[in-house]
This record gives sequence, C-alpha cells and structure tokens, in this order.
Amino acid sequence: MIVVMKPGSNPKQVEHVVKLVNEMGLKEQVIVGTERTVVAVLGNDRFKDKQRLELADGVDKVVPILASYKMASSEVKNDRTTIPLGGTLGGTVGGVKIPVIAGPCSVESKQQILEIAHAVKEAGAVALRGGAFKPRTSPYAFQGLAEEGLKYLAEAREQTGLAIVTEVMSIDQIPAVVEYADVLQLGARNMQNYNLLAKIGQTRKPVLLKRGLSATLEEFLLAAEYILAGGNTQVMLCERGIRTFETDYVRNTLPLAIVPELHKRSHLPVVVDPSHGTGKSHLVPDMCRASIAAGADALILEVHGDPEHALTDGAQSLNLKQFSEVMKSIKRVAAAVDREV
Ligand code: PEP
Ligand code: MN
Repeated sequence: MIVVMKPGSNPKQVEHVVKLVNEMGLKEQVIVGTERTVVAVLGNDRFKDKQRLELADGVDKVVPILASYKMASSEVKNDRTTIPLGGTLGGTVGGVKIPVIAGPCSVESKQQILEIAHAVKEAGAVALRGGAFKPRTSPYAFQGLAEEGLKYLAEAREQTGLAIVTEVMSIDQIPAVVEYADVLQLGARNMQNYNLLAKIGQTRKPVLLKRGLSATLEEFLLAAEYILAGGNTQVMLCERGIRTFETDYVRNTLPLAIVPELHKRSHLPVVVDPSHGTGKSHLVPDMCRASIAAGADALILEVHGDPEHALTDGAQSLNLKQFSEVMKSIKRVAAAVDREV
C-alpha cells in the first residue's frame, strides 16, 4: 500500500511515517513527486497496519496498490520516471527527447568498438552498446571479450563521451560491469534470474531490463519490481521481441502495443530494441519509426562497421551508413508525436 502525504507535508512528518512502517517490520520507499510525497510500504500485507498510518500527522490517505508489481506501478507515482544515461552527452530516457543507444552486438576488438563509437556519435547517438559478456545459445560460439571488452568500452567513452550500456550475465560479473559501465543491461535470458535481479537492485546504476523471450507483461513488470524493491529506482523496460510460431521472416516478433500498455501501467520509461525485435536489418528502420510513433522513450540498436563479418548478430545489424539514415528519418516521426531525437 501507499501512504499519500498531504500537499505541503514536512520532512519530519514523512520521517515519522517511515518510522511507523519500520516498526511494523516493513520496508519503505519514499517517492517525492512534484505535488506530493508518497511513502510506499513494502513487504507482507499481514503486517501492514493501515489505521496506525492513517492517524499519523501529515497523512492524507492510505491506499492499497492493486497491481502485483508495487513500485513499478503507476498507482505509486503519477509522474514519469526519467533516467540519465551517464556519459557526457546528456542523454536522458523518459523525457521529451528520445535518446538512441547504438553499437555492435559484441565488442570484438579495440579498433572495432572505437570506430563504431565515433561513427554512431557523429550520427547522433548518445550511448554506446556492446556486449563484453555474451549469452550465447551454443557454448562453442564467441562468448565475448569479458573484462578486456569492458576496458575498450571505457576507452570509447573517454574518447567520445558516449554513455556505456553493457550486459551483466551473472552475480560475479556485477563488480566489473559496475566499474566500467554507465548502464547495466539485464538480458532477455536472465529476466527471470531472480537472484541476479535482486543483486542488481542493490547497485545504484541505471538498468536496462530486457523482456524475457516468453515473458508476459506481468512477469516483465515483476522482474522490474525485484530491482526496484532493492532500492534501485532507475529501471528502463526494454521490449526486444518475443518468441512466437513465426521463425522465418523474423527472428522474434516485436509487439509494439506493449509500449502504450507499459506506459499505462507503469511510470518506468520504455525502450525498444528493433534489432533483436526483428532479427533482420532490412526491417529495422521501419520498426524504429514505428517504435517512436508508438511512444518509445529510447531505442537501442545494433550497428556494425561490417555486418557481414560481425562475430554476433550481423544479420540484424545496421551498417554505419544505414544507421545515419535511420537517425535522420526518425527525427521526422519524433516531431510528429511531439518528441525530439
Ligand atoms: C544483446 O543485446 O545483444 C542481447 C543478447 O540481447 P537479448 O538479451 O535481448 O537477447
Ligand atoms: Mn545481439
């Protein structure tokens, strides 16, 4: 449930509410909105004493959160969450401006990532993606450069100012990824790795949470809830396509209706990944435009200097020229829906 403070309530009153919540053996999260402050009460419903909280000074009302995902729900927070990506180019996800995160599927070499970083920055990206730890279907496939890859990404940030978005696949990789990256990517295959989600919730880095291959919207939001419940409030929801019966013309099916639906149910920003969402580079530009028309708060795109020879996901990667054309064309769609790129 949430304790809604009266407009103009003071910090002492909020502190007192927090104290009462803690006395019940429950955790709290204070959300300071533009109009009023709300204290979310987290934990087992059995211990929640609504009446005691209603009596406290400065409290307007105590209301239950009906959704199973509590902190992720728009019931807890009216205004939308905005998340700065880091780097020095000033990209923020969730505002009027739509930042584009671009880069290769995998970091393959220092030269490769630096070349792509400069090119995507030139075209207007504000963040660089690139996996150093890769979740591969086959154990014999390229698994990523690991910490060496993270160092190359950090060097790319140094040279370009781009924020770094990279995947963390396991709990033991968290310290290294936190050290080098600006945004932790939690991959589709790990969306239901609850121990990993909880540990990432203890970090204070923004998280790009990808929807699981067969996750429902509710499961997706509950995965976000694991991170939020740990106190990390900076979660971006990333739709990257789901498994359907279709295996031929697309690799995954990109269900864009989830963008407005997530916006309705949650205050968290929504990112779309048309690269994994289609698996085919010729479909990516149209799906970028469609994502923006549907309300996406950011795009994450796979871009490679030489897609034909990419070590991973070449078929869905745009080349540098295609990326720069996409950047130009999405500006017009963004303007049509009162956004900017
Ligand atoms: C990726 O971004 O390269 C990736 C592995 O994504 P996903 O987890 O969505 O498959
Ligand atoms: Mn990929």
